[in-house]
Amino acid sequence: MTTYDDALALDAADPLAAFRDRFLMYDDPVAYLDGNSLGRPPKATLARINEVLTQEWAGSLIRSWSDGWTELPTEVGDRLGEVLLGATAGQTVIADSTTVNLFKLLHAACGLRPDRTEIVIDDTNFPTDRYLAESIAAQRGMSVRWISPELTTSVTPDLLASVLSEQTAVVLINQVDYRSGAMIDVNALTAQIHEVGALVIWDLCHSVGVVSLNLDRDEVDFAVGCTYKYVNGGPGAPAFMYVAKRHLAAAEQPITGWWSAQDMFAMASTYLPATSIRRMLSGTANVLGIVAVDEGVKLIAEAGLDAIRVKSIALTEFTIKLVDEWHVPIEVVTPRDAAKRGSHVTIRLPHARRITDDLIARGLVPDFRNPDMIRFGLSPLTTSFAEVWNTYDLARAMTFEQ
Ligand SMILES: *Cc1c(COP(=O)(O)O)cnc(C)c1O
Repeated sequence: MTTYDDALALDAADPLAAFRDRFLMYDDPVAYLDGNSLGRPPKATLARINEVLTQEWAGSLIRSWSDGWTELPTEVGDRLGEVLLGATAGQTVIADSTTVNLFKLLHAACGLRPDRTEIVIDDTNFPTDRYLAESIAAQRGMSVRWISPELTTSVTPDLLASVLSEQTAVVLINQVDYRSGAMIDVNALTAQIHEVGALVIWDLCHSVGVVSLNLDRDEVDFAVGCTYKYVNGGPGAPAFMYVAKRHLAAAEQPITGWWSAQDMFAMASTYLPATSIRRMLSGTANVLGIVAVDEGVKLIAEAGLDAIRVKSIALTEFTIKLVDEWHVPIEVVTPRDAAKRGSHVTIRLPHARRITDDLIARGLVPDFRNPDMIRFGLSPLTTSFAEVWNTYDLARAMTFEQ
């Protein structure tokens, strides 16, 4: 049996352990295994926001827009693109929410394939993605072509092959399934989608900041993702949006605001979109949100994505090992092959809702997923092996109490 001392030994040998000190943490919660829903706050973010507020906002007031704020969406976008996405400059912006960015990208992608009639998406996808696919298909007189993957394997080449055709305009898929943690191959599936002349939008919410990405190399068309999960940008932090350079000149998005215009300060009487990635923007940048994203990206750059992935795999392996030692019938929904999973482990068990609620009441915070799943989110910069062990130990005791 794995003991608490084993967990402590793993923490002692963890090269990223010191990063926990770079985050604001208190004694409660005792264990936080939901950093994949809302990451913890970096101390550097507190300092940066204080500086922006007291100096740039209070001090320079409106002059700060021309002293650098106006460029923040693309500057921080470039940095996030380079460190986290494998994207060269000029293709990534930080703005709005994942939902709003997906709305823009779905319209832009469909607009690039005007003669095609179908949007392909899986019915296990996150609600926002499914709802948008349906509403945009309706707005454009198109239809949604659903695929129904197994939770544990997510979207497979065979499933895609069964729906892709000359009618497919765009495919919207998640690299890491938000429930099972199943991770799929960006490179291979992108190539398969391109074979029929369709475009792909990758939703990277559960992979950005924890899995190495190569969007340029993989010839991805569009991508989108949250920054408040593994990037630790904070509640409501603005999302990122990636548009491959080759699509920029023709990509038309529907929220044409002054920030997407060629010369935003010209206040021109007619709208001409910027030729750069700024054409994907809409309104005034969320300065406090973007600088928080910047600090999250800097911490990941300092730790290194490769080291983060190594710890992520060690944390998921450790979690699965503990679940296997639980000695009650519990299904591990997450793939056991490390190459096929992201950074959370999901189990299916009776009374999952009540056990999650009881754990949270005792200061150990995992995540419940309908109808019978508990998700352990393992965020390598902040999660310790001791946190995982403590959560498992109490959850196990609770299952025997019933
Ligand atoms: C978290 C998440 C979102 C959230 O979108 P918001 O607009 O930030 O609320 C969207 N898609 C996926 C796959 C997610 O995991």
